[in-house]
Amino acid sequence: MKKLLVLACTLASSLACATVAPHGAAAQERHVYTHADTLRGSIGPARAWWDVTFYDLHTRVNPSDSSIAGVNRMTYRVLAPATEMQVDLQQPLALDSATQDGQRLTYRRDGNAYFVTLTAPQTAGSTRTIALHYHGKPRVATHAPWDGGYVWARDSLGNRWIATANQGLGASVWWPTKDTQADEPDSQRVAITVPDSIMDVSNGRLRSVTHNDDGTTTWEWFVTEPINNYDVAVNAARYAHLGGIYHGEQGPLTLDFYPLAYHADTARVQFEQARPMLACFEHWFGPYPWYADGYKLVETPHLGMEHQSAVAYGNHYQNGYLGRDLSGTGHGLKWDFIIVHESAHEWFGNSLTSKDLADMWVHESFANYAEALYTECQQGKEAGASYVIGTRRLVRNDEPIVPAFGVNAEGSGDMYYKGGNMLHTIRQLVNDDEKWRSILRGLQSTYRHQVVTGQQVRDYISQRSGMDLSKVFQQYLDTTKIPVLQYRVNGTQLSYRWADVVPGFDMPVRVTVGDESRLLRPTETWQTTAVPSGAPLTVNRNFYVTAQPTR
Ligand SMILES: [Zn+2]
Repeated sequence: MKKLLVLACTLASSLACATVAPHGAAAQERHVYTHADTLRGSIGPARAWWDVTFYDLHTRVNPSDSSIAGVNRMTYRVLAPATEMQVDLQQPLALDSATQDGQRLTYRRDGNAYFVTLTAPQTAGSTRTIALHYHGKPRVATHAPWDGGYVWARDSLGNRWIATANQGLGASVWWPTKDTQADEPDSQRVAITVPDSIMDVSNGRLRSVTHNDDGTTTWEWFVTEPINNYDVAVNAARYAHLGGIYHGEQGPLTLDFYPLAYHADTARVQFEQARPMLACFEHWFGPYPWYADGYKLVETPHLGMEHQSAVAYGNHYQNGYLGRDLSGTGHGLKWDFIIVHESAHEWFGNSLTSKDLADMWVHESFANYAEALYTECQQGKEAGASYVIGTRRLVRNDEPIVPAFGVNAEGSGDMYYKGGNMLHTIRQLVNDDEKWRSILRGLQSTYRHQVVTGQQVRDYISQRSGMDLSKVFQQYLDTTKIPVLQYRVNGTQLSYRWADVVPGFDMPVRVTVGDESRLLRPTETWQTTAVPSGAPLTVNRNFYVTAQPTR
């Protein structure tokens, strides 16, 4: 989700945008990376030696004073002996203690990271647990989900409505963790204690409900499969519960919907869209990745987020993106943007996750492209193409999609529309829809429940398509330039070449000359071919390039 801020900026008033936009001057400042960015974004020596296998998170949420307190018992496998462990927990939260084998450990704080000194031997191959107690008033999100933290809201009847959203900012904004996408636990408990008047819906399946004798209830959720820590969420409100079964590629999949209680009837209708969404994405991407943990939609006071197996929904039961169509074609008004986009992340983002935030295009380019595929499933191939082409109007080319690695940097919001159009262009190059579908499904089956680098995704698509697409990826992901097809027609001679491209760029492009379709193979050098005299040339609209007649 995250960069939907860019959509909001594009669509909302420029004034509202200016207060929260990540681009412009603020974006330039972000490019000065600090020691803290390196601690957060790199696998430093105090992170590299251990591999998280289980998070056992218990948090008490106190809305009366906007505070939280809890413990995360982290189990990890020792990869190499070491004595210092980095644990991330963002200020103003504070670590109260770190213990192992009943021994209290000492630690030093460096900004939002704690470095704990371990006293027990950490033997390679062994499995250890460390308990991290913490408390405080977590950062409050003011523009969730675009900034991050806790949302302390109320529903229209005045009941408490609490949520977390922290993509990019990181899960350490509300619990102590190894805050990197590169290391996921194999499973996780999320036990959240809230006042009796509301219920918590977190990730995975509900295992137990415990009524405490102090006016609170503990909701114990359990995720049995690997999860990104930014996906772990608190959603607490007066919810209704709607249930159902979807019969998919791997059999029965439980559907559980948690709208605000007074939205139950509306949700019953709108959330039916989950079924055709699942059918479409299972067709294109393969089985839904979390049959064991189920599929959920949970109404939130913020717009939405791909929280694994508990997708946050705040689109007000409207089709489109808050009732608007990002593509400007009308096709996007026939489905609910948040159900479709955020659920697409269950495949691209949650099952297949980028190791470094710099490769966030692996999440968002595919999610944008998934919107087009959903449009195709629902309205036909031409409509799907029109949708993704329509979103080109939102491309800024302000900075490359892929930024610096190792500093927790996000690239340009172009990772959505430009990235989606790059994938749509590559589909034209593959020129075989079944093969293209097998590549998308192959990405999912090969890297199921894994973290990957963007380079692995680039290489996989090249290898499976039988084409070296390295220059295509480089052009669209690593530069701000859209390829320019320069051409001129002299009588019966057409001359053409690529301009504004990376060295060696040789992407084929389909054009129509007169009424004949042709695949040109331009390079940076002028080439010529014979054409009927006076025949006009148009570039096939599915290729995301600029055509430029020259003299
Ligand atoms: Zn997204």
